[in-house]
Parts: sequence; structure tokens; C-alpha cells
Amino acid sequence: MKRVAIVGGGVAGLAAAYELARLARDGAEVQGVLFEASTRLGGIVETVREGGFVIECGPDAWVTEKPWARELAEELGLGDEVMASNDATRKTYVLVDKKLQAMPDGMRMMVPADLEALDGSELFSAGAKQAYRDEVGLAADLKNAAPEEDESVADFVGRHFGGEVLEKIGAPLLSGIFGGDVARLSVRAVMAPFVAMEREHGSLIAAVQARAATSKPSAVFTTLRSGMGTLVDRMIAAVTESWIRMAAEVRFVSYGEEGWLVGTARGVERFDALMMAAPVDVARLLLKPVDAEIAPMLEMDASSAVVVGFGFADAARLALPQGFGFLVPPGSDNLLMACTFVDQKFDDRVPPGGRLVRAFFGGKAAERLMRCGNDETAAVARLELAQILGPLPEPQVTVVRRWPRSLPQYEVGHLERMKALDERVQKLEGLSLLGNGYRGVGVPDLVRDARAAARNSVRRG
Ligand SMILES: Cc1cc2nc3c(=O)[nH]c(=O)nc-3n(C[C@H](O)[C@H](O)[C@H](O)COP(=O)(O)OP(=O)(O)OC[C@H]3O[C@@H](n4cnc5c(N)ncnc54)[C@H](O)[C@@H]3O)c2cc1C
Repeated sequence: MKRVAIVGGGVAGLAAAYELARLARDGAEVQGVLFEASTRLGGIVETVREGGFVIECGPDAWVTEKPWARELAEELGLGDEVMASNDATRKTYVLVDKKLQAMPDGMRMMVPADLEALDGSELFSAGAKQAYRDEVGLAADLKNAAPEEDESVADFVGRHFGGEVLEKIGAPLLSGIFGGDVARLSVRAVMAPFVAMEREHGSLIAAVQARAATSKPSAVFTTLRSGMGTLVDRMIAAVTESWIRMAAEVRFVSYGEEGWLVGTARGVERFDALMMAAPVDVARLLLKPVDAEIAPMLEMDASSAVVVGFGFADAARLALPQGFGFLVPPGSDNLLMACTFVDQKFDDRVPPGGRLVRAFFGGKAAERLMRCGNDETAAVARLELAQILGPLPEPQVTVVRRWPRSLPQYEVGHLERMKALDERVQKLEGLSLLGNGYRGVGVPDLVRDARAAARNSVRRG
């Protein structure tokens, strides 16, 4: 019987455990043991259900284009729960000069499919609109100028559309997902489809328009009706109970002729394989004594996130513009990075007549709020929201979550570093590194990656 240790019970570790359990049910000679330091599984995926409100403390959805979370949900019998965002009323605003300005319709991240929609937009200056229009005519130049090497998101977006587009939508969109600084983020790691578009078409606008003409539109985000936490609950239910060790922080791992040893406060166990699915900082510390060369490869900057959800009983007392929410460009006076109008983005998130908004803080503001208590953090969030949306009624439900160093930054050269890391990992038989520090931060990426690694670990055996 092959024994596989999984360190960390976030979505990555759970997906690995789920896949191993599935293979064991199909007859594979494998036993998994999942070590989770805390007393809750799911890691950053957490849904709070209170007073009829469904409040996501971490991810609220996955990107529809990536099929792996949906496939997992369907396999877990959650097909009826799969729910698209309300894209008929999709609109995102950007806070500019203390006012919410709508992003033009038909944007794919910062790339417009519909240049005419740009004309009516008050978000961009005449200069930025012109830069957009010029990009199509510069296709051949842009294609020729595409660098062989990786570059920063700032350089890439700036080359296509100039500084204003980068500042107003590029930076807030990407900082919200990957944390940190667009001048350091790797375009190849975080905007790979756009890099491919540049290689093929030169102009990103031409590429997005060509795609829009051939593909049928689908909602951008997909989630589960009862919340993302249900995905976690169902995976847990599908994993053999005796495989899961709660409040079992892994304190050391070692590797030798006898395989892998995993130590917790309760003792040491031997395994044939180790799936390291704890956050990259933890992975670095645990693996340092095993392989001195791996540790520096796991050094990554990461930014923190603070999420505050407010559920209001009476939506009429807090009028919101139509749409999914707003972004705040870095460098503004506000601490807030983004806000989601949750009951407008998704159905079934509030009791009848209710309203749910979710404030998101990142970067330096999140670091500062890390040190505040829940009441103080909620008060800051209320103040920030009131400055933008007008006076807020008293919330019926408030949820505050802090996620320290939860958004690892994929800096320029990330893919090369991952290649070198993979080569090193191959040398330690049975080791796989899972989680959001390596090959994608989104829930679908993590699910795909973890399940593939679990299948490999059984195959290798
Ligand atoms: C605020 C926020 C919003 C997000 N929104 C979205 C979104 O809308 N869509 C999307 O696709 N993605 C989103 N993401 C990204 C996504 O949620 C994360 O990348 C993902 O949940 C990370 O999962 P993980 O399993 O890699 O790590 P984690 O969730 O961090 O899990 C790691 C686990 O390891 C445990 N652990 C730590 N140390 C040890 C140890 N020594 N021994 C044993 N266990 C240990 C921890 O307790 C934890 O349970 C968001 C992220 C954040 C922070």
C-alpha cells in the first residue's frame, strides 16, 4: 500500500486528497493522510452563512473559461448548484476623482472588444481613448516588438495602451488578483492568453474582437449557489474520514532511504510520497532542511488581503449603481482596493430584500489592518465605503477576515523559476508542490494541478 502525505487542507490539498480517495475507491493501492494545522479545512475558501446572507470570505467564484472547478463540482453531485454571475447587468466601476466611472461595455480585462463603447465612456481621457484606437493600426509594429523574454505587466500594458489604462484599470484589476505591483508582476505568468494574442495578432484589440466574433458569450464568473464552501464540504465528505488529521501542524519533514518522514506534535509517520500543499512560506521552511537548493527557489513576495462583508436587511436603504462593484486604482487617497456588490453579481446571496457588499483591502492597507481588531477593521471599511457610496445603514451581519501573505506575487521570470524548481523537485522522489505559489492562483488551476499530481503520485508508485 502506497502512503501519501498531504500537508495543508486548503483547496489544493483537499483536491489532492479527494483524487487519491477516488483512485483508492477505483482499486488503487493508496492511502492518503492529510495534515491540516488549523481546526478548519478549506484554507482561504470559506463561506459564512448567517441570517440568510451567503458571505464569501475568500474566493467568491471561479473564472468560467477554466473548466476544472466546474468539472469537480459536477463530479461531486453539485451540478444543480453551479451558477453563473448575472452578466446581463455586468458593469464594473473605477473610482476616479472620488466618483465611480463605469468601465465601457465589452472589456476583456483592460482590452475593449467594442471601440464604439469607448466613445461614450467617461472613465478615460481623450488621450487614452486615442491610444486604444491607435493600437489596432500598430498591430504589425507591436508584433515585431514583442520581446523574446518575459516582461512586467506594466511594460506590456503600457506598450499597448499607455500609462492611463495601466493605472486606471490594469493595476487595480491585477493587484486584486495577484497582489502587489504591476511593475514587478510577470506578464507571462499572469496574462498568458494576452501574450499569446500579441504573438498571433500584434494588436490585443484585434485579437479580442476576432475571438468575440467566433465564440459565444458566456458569463465571466461561475460559483455555487450555496457558496464556494460547499465545494470544500463535498470534497471532505468524499475523503475517507480516517485520512484527515485536524489541528495537526506539520513541524518537520525529512527525506531519506526510508522515504518521507512527517512530524507533528503527535509523532512521526513514514510515507512514500509527500504532497506539500501548505502556503509557499511554510513549504520553504519545511523543505529547507531537506534540500538547501529548493528553499531559495521558494522565496516569493506575497501580499495580504482583508475582506469585510456587510449584510444589510433593507436594500432600499443603500442604493447602488447597477453592476458588480468597483475598483480603486493604487495611489488614490482611499485604503480600499475593491468592493463587490454581491447581491447584484450573484443570485441567492441575501435574504429577501437584503443587500450584501464586500470590501477588499490589499497591499499596505491590508498590512496595516492586519494589526487591527475586527471592530476597528469593520469601522474603517464602513467609513471607506460611505465616502464612496454615501451613508450606510446599520449592517445586520458583519464578517471580517484577514488573509496574511495570501496572494503570492508571480514576478517577472516566474515561469523560468518554476521550471528550475520543477527540475529540482524531480530529484526528490515522491515530492510534489501544490498550492497558489506555483502554477496559478485561481481555484480551477489549483484543482487541476492537485488532481493531476495525485494521479501521477499513484502512477509513479
Ligand atoms: C481574498 C481572496 C479572494 C480570492 N478570490 C478568488 C476568486 O474569486 N477566485 C479564485 O479562483 N481565486 C481567488 N483567490 C485565490 C484562491 O482563493 C487561493 O489561491 C486558494 O484558495 C489557495 O488555496 P491553497 O490550497 O493553495 O492554500 P490555502 O487556502 O492557504 O491553504 C493552505 C492550508 O495549509 C494549512 N497549513 C499551513 N501550515 C501548515 C502546516 N505546517 N501543517 C499543516 N497544514 C498547514 C493552512 O492552515 C491552510 O488550511 C482569492 C484569494 C484571496 C486571498
